[in-house]
Amino acid sequence: MRYLLGLAAAMLLTVTLFAQQHVYYEFSSPNGVHHEAEISVAAEGLPQGAAIFRMSRSSPGRYATHEFGKNIYNIKATDKNGATLSIKKLEGDVYEVTGHKGYVKVSYTLYGNYADGTYVGIDETGCHLNIPATFMWVKGLDNAPITIHFNLQNKNWKIATQLKPGNDAATFTAPGLQYFMDSPVKIGDLSFTEWTVTNPDKKSYRFRIAFDGKDPNNKLDEFGKKVARMVKQAQAVFGETPAYDYGEYTFLASINPYVFGDGMEHRNSTMITTGNDFTGEDNQLGVFSHEFFHCWNVERIRPKTIEPFNFEKSNTCDALWLAEGFTQYYGVLLLVRAGFTSPEKYLNTVGGLVNTKTNTLGAQLYSPIENSQRAVFVDAGVAVDKTNYQNMFTSYYTYGAALALALDLELRAKYKLTLDDFMRALWKKYGKTEIAYTVPGLEETLAQVTNDKKYAVDFFTKYIYGHDAIDYAPLLANAGIELNRSFAGKAWLGNIALDTNKNNQLFIASNTIKNTPVYNAGLDIDDIIISIDGKNVTQKKEWDDVLAQHKINDVVEVVYKHRNETKKTSITLKESPFVKAAVKANATESENAFRNAWLGEK
Ligand SMILES: [Zn+2]
Repeated sequence: MRYLLGLAAAMLLTVTLFAQQHVYYEFSSPNGVHHEAEISVAAEGLPQGAAIFRMSRSSPGRYATHEFGKNIYNIKATDKNGATLSIKKLEGDVYEVTGHKGYVKVSYTLYGNYADGTYVGIDETGCHLNIPATFMWVKGLDNAPITIHFNLQNKNWKIATQLKPGNDAATFTAPGLQYFMDSPVKIGDLSFTEWTVTNPDKKSYRFRIAFDGKDPNNKLDEFGKKVARMVKQAQAVFGETPAYDYGEYTFLASINPYVFGDGMEHRNSTMITTGNDFTGEDNQLGVFSHEFFHCWNVERIRPKTIEPFNFEKSNTCDALWLAEGFTQYYGVLLLVRAGFTSPEKYLNTVGGLVNTKTNTLGAQLYSPIENSQRAVFVDAGVAVDKTNYQNMFTSYYTYGAALALALDLELRAKYKLTLDDFMRALWKKYGKTEIAYTVPGLEETLAQVTNDKKYAVDFFTKYIYGHDAIDYAPLLANAGIELNRSFAGKAWLGNIALDTNKNNQLFIASNTIKNTPVYNAGLDIDDIIISIDGKNVTQKKEWDDVLAQHKINDVVEVVYKHRNETKKTSITLKESPFVKAAVKANATESENAFRNAWLGEK
């Protein structure tokens, strides 16, 4: 989410026209022990007629809908003197207040017991607030300035947020609704570690980790130094950090067993929730590097299809393969460059990305644009019915990262450029200027960076608008890396999940996947396996043991039950197409240099 600088000018105009338009929020959690908060939103300068107050249905950085209105109750409306006003529910989460004289205060109780990047967690130890999940807002007052005050239940509590500090330590302001909604708030007995980052233009920014968790070994400062090393590698990709509003960037980091694993990017902060105890080890850095990369890629280099963000419905984006996928690629790569992940270990990621593009149906059959647009269903979208994602969807995170890998390697081999050059060009053209981009704009930038329009058209036609296969072997060979079959020479019938049910029957627990032997044999999710090769099986291991005795091209007979009907089929075994990456034994000096330039410190 972003705050348009142009909005400041528009706001001044608004202020002139409706000098009194302002929205005030009050927050307290006197019944925190039962996860309740008391909230009020007061709007002044309302135009005549009905005023519409509502809860959001979506949240910046999340693309599916989340019905935040489900967790509020005790809804009341009053005027400036505290007299009751008429409030009517128009929809599940939309309320209409009538009979007012320009001022309405709506108050409600909020229940929140799920601390992560999307929802709310309230208890006696503190409050973890994602704004769209917490606060109602007033339709038509998007540009009205906002003041929010927190009543702290405990004198040790501190507040961390990217909101602008106000008149006292518990008051903050926002220039308008979009900015407010993008600014999560963490309240509790927080610990801090901080450092300074200076850009080539000599401007410095304060970085801090606002930490919620136990740190028995006093590792937080040391961990902050590790995060700072990662930040430096990210800064090197773009040449500079963004000019953070109010001079600082905050990692709101909850690392404790009482939160749910997530990471959510924001303009000058990120909400990180890791459901483990804090150790300060390198393996807790991954979510930091991914989310931090977003302060360029998606927060400022922003897809036009989600700008401005709509809080009333899902937001369909055609470029999550770049916004999330390229961020995924760099999130891992930055830790290699900063020395936290060894290049050898990174090859597992490389192999995984090759498999994503080569061996998943969503990437074989559909473009990354089509997969991005599915985020409105898959991005923590909740459904009761079964889906067929295994056969038609590949995550835009890994799909996009697989494209980033191919593009990075190709730019290096063909043009003596790197993906960093492309990202820096996007930053200059769309990020620094905060002009939202389109997919054709990305293609044009690739043409400019490579000075080769034909290449850019070809790449986008084949791999972004299309879903052509990518031959990774020659690209990786330049870096002295070879691809080999992960299970060479072993009989394989497809990747399926097998489980034993409470009646001690072995059953297929996931969709079987198109073009694999088990799919072609007609086996489907929920089918119960009775025997393979004449041997009765009830456990996965028994099934695996039978398979292990077979060779590629063998035919095995399977007896199974589908809806109480016993059936028989035969499966012709193949070799798994999945590959792994390894450094070539005979890699040349120039191949090693290519790999070091790619994975080495910047
Ligand atoms: Zn992300």
